[in-house]
Order: sequence, then structure tokens, then C-alpha cells
Amino acid sequence: MDFELSEEQKMVIDGAKKFAEKELAPRVEELDAKQEANVAALKALGELGYLGMTVPEDYGGTGLGAVAYAGVMIELSKVDAGTAVGVSVQNSLVNDALVMYGTEAQKRHYLPRLVTGEWMGCFSLTEAGAGSDPGSLRAVAVRDGQDFVLNGTKNFTTNGGFADVVIAFFSTDREKGAKGISAFLIPKETPGFAVGKHEDKLGIRTSSTTEMVFTDCRIPAENLLGQENKGLHVALGTLDCGRIGIAAQAVGIAEAALEESVRYAKQRVQFGKPLAEFEVLQFMLADMAVDVEVATWMLYRAAWMKDSGAKRFTKESAICKLFASEMAHRVCHKALQIHGGYGFMKDYKVERLYRDQRITEIYEGTSEIQRLVIARSLLAE
Ligand SMILES: Cc1cc2nc3c(=O)[nH]c(=O)nc-3n(C[C@H](O)[C@H](O)[C@H](O)COP(=O)(O)OP(=O)(O)OC[C@H]3O[C@@H](n4cnc5c(N)ncnc54)[C@H](O)[C@@H]3O)c2cc1C
Repeated sequence: MDFELSEEQKMVIDGAKKFAEKELAPRVEELDAKQEANVAALKALGELGYLGMTVPEDYGGTGLGAVAYAGVMIELSKVDAGTAVGVSVQNSLVNDALVMYGTEAQKRHYLPRLVTGEWMGCFSLTEAGAGSDPGSLRAVAVRDGQDFVLNGTKNFTTNGGFADVVIAFFSTDREKGAKGISAFLIPKETPGFAVGKHEDKLGIRTSSTTEMVFTDCRIPAENLLGQENKGLHVALGTLDCGRIGIAAQAVGIAEAALEESVRYAKQRVQFGKPLAEFEVLQFMLADMAVDVEVATWMLYRAAWMKDSGAKRFTKESAICKLFASEMAHRVCHKALQIHGGYGFMKDYKVERLYRDQRITEIYEGTSEIQRLVIARSLLAE
């Protein structure tokens, strides 16, 4: 057991920290207010190799792996959790899906462009009537000769507003329900595809969240990702990777909230002394630090399992996503409390961290769904 990151991992994570401070920090408040994604920063992160961290070098990636990726996600999320989730979607939900389920031709075509940020990708599973229960999705793909014709609307797609390629899930055999779903790779210029409503959100406002609309959208059968009717397998296997990214996002947000709280508690004077001298607040800070520490190591362990080639890390990624997201909730709640009324104001960073944290308990499976996944794994062991 080695708790030390390698020199290479440290260097890459430190590079992300510097990038976040120099390129993300100056714009995050303005873009949060305007609800605008920092696409230029995402492209720049691609040029630096941060969008291909788990992709083998053969396909243009850095192949650094999930541990380094988790560290990078922490650093980006500390500063701008909305841009960070764009990085997470590209690495985990798009690239990892292609690496695990793509054909050789698909990998050669898509991955070299995705890892550099030339193309951005997104992952469209959710629909109005199919959130926690993707098996009930209504979007349909009907075979027509060598093609499939896609119809339906996907909800809440991260990176949707600027994605060049969409991984989307459709029913290819309604009677089979969850076992009749297939995944497709859809380039944005495909006739019949359009981006729909852009969502107005509580948090991660520097990310893009949109509807994706498919109207008689014809796509060749070679654009199937994975086997026909095995789409749920593709979705769930991909989400195992994605949850590591979201856990890292939660850890980053919580780390930032803790740092802000320590700084504020030392500066703010009440009753003639800094808040930091009140034992009640010291205990709050201590509990926050313990929470962040525990989540960080759970996260790195799940990422290490992925890097070690474990076939399944479903339970571990669900555990770290569940714990890290609920941990970030507790930590951000305390951080705002330590800031008193000022924490409620937009002038203070904890206000945004408090809003940004909330989504980590919802997307890529709500906390309730993570508990179901964990319980199912336990009962099957
Ligand atoms: C900002 C944002 C970005 C997103 N990005 C993406 C994306 O890129 N791609 C994508 O496909 N989706 C995305 N989503 C969708 C997200 O994954 C879903 O919102 C989430 O899975 C929950 O689905 P739902 O919103 O339909 O809630 P519902 O499934 O309706 O759940 C409502 C409540 O019921 C609970 N619940 C549901 N079923 C059960 C059960 N069996 N047992 C116990 N409790 C249950 C849930 O935990 C929740 O508390 C995004 C969502 C948001 C808000």
C-alpha cells in the first residue's frame, strides 16, 4: 500500500491547480452570474492533455489514469466546479465509454479529436420520464436497412450546448424494456439533431445543460456504441467511471469551502477576538477537515482500483460518490454558517460553493440510487 502520488501525478495535478488559478479564477464569478460555460478554457485544457487522461497513448491520450484524473478534478473543482464537470464528462462519460465499448474504428476516429478538445462530447441518457430509472426511456431508434432512425428528446445534458459528438441512448426493442436499449454516437451536424432548451440552474452555472432533440435523425448502424440492446450495460459501466469524477468534484468543492472557512475564521473579529478562537467554530473546522480527508482517500482508492484494471468497481465508485457528495453538503453548510450573513452574499465564494455542491448529490445517480447500487452489490456478494 502506497499513499504517495508519483512525481508525474503530482506534476500533472499541480499543473491543473496553476491553470485553475490563472485561467478559471479570474472569470468564474462573471460566468456564474451570466450562466455561461468557459468553452475556451475547456479547449485549452484539451491542448494541455487534461481531456484525455484515461485514454491510452495509442489514441492520443496521456494514459495517466484515474488517480491523476481525480487529483486534477479536485483542483479544477476548487476553483470552478462548472468547468470541472465539463472535463469530467469528456474524460469519463465520453472517452471512457469509447475506450471500453468502442470499436477500433470508432476509437481511431473519435478519441484523437476528443482528447485534444478539438471535439467536445456529451452523454445523453436522461429523459423527462426516465431519470433514476433509465430503463423506462421513450426515445426510440428504429432500424431501416443499414441505418437507424432516431426520435425523442433527452433532458439535462451536460456539455450539450457546445458538444460536437453526442453519446445518446434509445430504445431499440421496446418489448425488452431495459434490455432493449442501445447507445449511439451522433455527430452534431447529423440532420434531424438539434440542441433544445438551455436550462437555468441553481449551481454549476459555468456548465452547459441542455435538451437534445432527435427528429427522424438517421444514423448508420456502425454508429452503435457497444452491441445492439446492450446500451444499459454501456450506460452503467460508464457511470462507474463517471462517479469517480463527480466524487472528485465534491471533494474539490469541500476543500475550497474548508480553506475559505479557515481564512475567514482567522480574520473575522467578534466579542473582541477572531472567530477562530471560539472552540465551537474550531470543532466545526475540525469536523470539516476529517470529512474532506476521509472522502479524499475513498476517492483515490476507487480511482486506484480502476487504474489497477479491476473488472468492476461499481460498489467502490458508488460509495465514494455517495460519501463525497453528502460530505460536501455538510462541509459547505458549515462553511456558510461560519461566514454568518456574509456567506449568504454573492461577494463571498462560499455562496457559490454552497450552490455548486448540491448537484453532486443528484447527477450520475442520486444519493438514493447510490445506496441502492451499494446494497445490491453487498447482497450479491
Ligand atoms: C445540472 C444537471 C446536469 C445533468 N447532466 C446529465 C448528463 O450529462 N447526462 C444525463 O444523462 N443526465 C444528466 N443529468 C440528469 C441526472 O442524472 C438526473 O437528474 C438524475 O439521475 C435524477 O433523475 P431525475 O432528475 O429524473 O429524478 P427522479 O428519478 O425523478 O428522482 C426524484 C427523487 O426520487 C428518488 N428516487 C427515484 N427512484 C428511487 C428509488 N427506486 N428508490 C428511492 N428513491 C428513488 C431520487 O433519488 C430523487 O430523490 C443532469 C442533471 C442535472 C440537474
